[in-house]
Amino acid sequence: MPDPHQQAAQFIAEGKHVIAVTGAGISVESGIPDFRSPGGIWDTYPPEQYATTDAFMANPDRVWDMWFDLGALLGDASPNPGHRALADLQGLDRMDAIITQNIDNLHQEAGSRNVIEYHGNAKHMRCLDCEMVHPLNIAARTTTAPRCSCGGLMKPNVVLFGDLIPDEAVVAADNAVCAADVVLVIGTSATVYPAAQLPLTAKSSGARILECNLEPTDFTPEITDVFLAGPAGQTLPLLVRAVEELREVL
Ligand code: NAD
Ligand code: ZN
Repeated sequence: MPDPHQQAAQFIAEGKHVIAVTGAGISVESGIPDFRSPGGIWDTYPPEQYATTDAFMANPDRVWDMWFDLGALLGDASPNPGHRALADLQGLDRMDAIITQNIDNLHQEAGSRNVIEYHGNAKHMRCLDCEMVHPLNIAARTTTAPRCSCGGLMKPNVVLFGDLIPDEAVVAADNAVCAADVVLVIGTSATVYPAAQLPLTAKSSGARILECNLEPTDFTPEITDVFLAGPAGQTLPLLVRAVEELREVL
């Protein structure tokens, strides 16, 4: 059986439009737990109780406790070799766009461009009245929900369960998916919709799906052409090296 890294590298080297769809798993090695990791912030703040529009509107002060704690966690995190490998693929002109479900800004901090933030960015907050976006300043933490200069209630600039995906992200992601002939799906459990629809749509338009995860997901038996088992911080640098080697011989 061919080595999956070699097989995946071949698809990436030959692809006309390669994109990535990333989830919380790629940031686990940066110290940000995914929803599946035991312990850590999601035990204190179960996402189904804190990351929903209803919970936010019912008690914004309580929910802001979570966002300030998460903001501090994100402030301490830096990109890991998995994020940097995707930026390296862009340097090799082998990655058109990265659609991320993550809200941690780490792809941008790794030097990636054309990052489509499907679920927003937790380093910013938005006024529910005037729509102005402000950076989240953890040092100015308050015990009540932050307020805008206009007096409006601020909300983290992220997509909570129950919110719509921002139009701009929907259009950019749909364009990227329609154009893609190779999709690298990394560290997502394939359970959060509509994000989980993106690889399915790409597959039905004929794209090859390369999946990198610690364990198989619902995608794996259905749409995955090559499964790269293991932590993204180890797998993706190996993949980049294999692509570089192939480009030398092509
Ligand atoms: P998820 O938590 O549902 O699943 C994470 C997936 O990553 C799992 O399949 C797991 O097996 C895999 N994984 C864990 N460690 C990995 C590693 N080192 N390398 C490769 N794969 C690894 O994540 P999801 O599918 O992205 O859905 C969760 C939702 O929560 C998303 O909407 C996301 O926006 C949000 N979220 C974001 C962050 C972040 O911004 N870093 C963190 C937690 C949750
Ligand atoms: Zn305002």
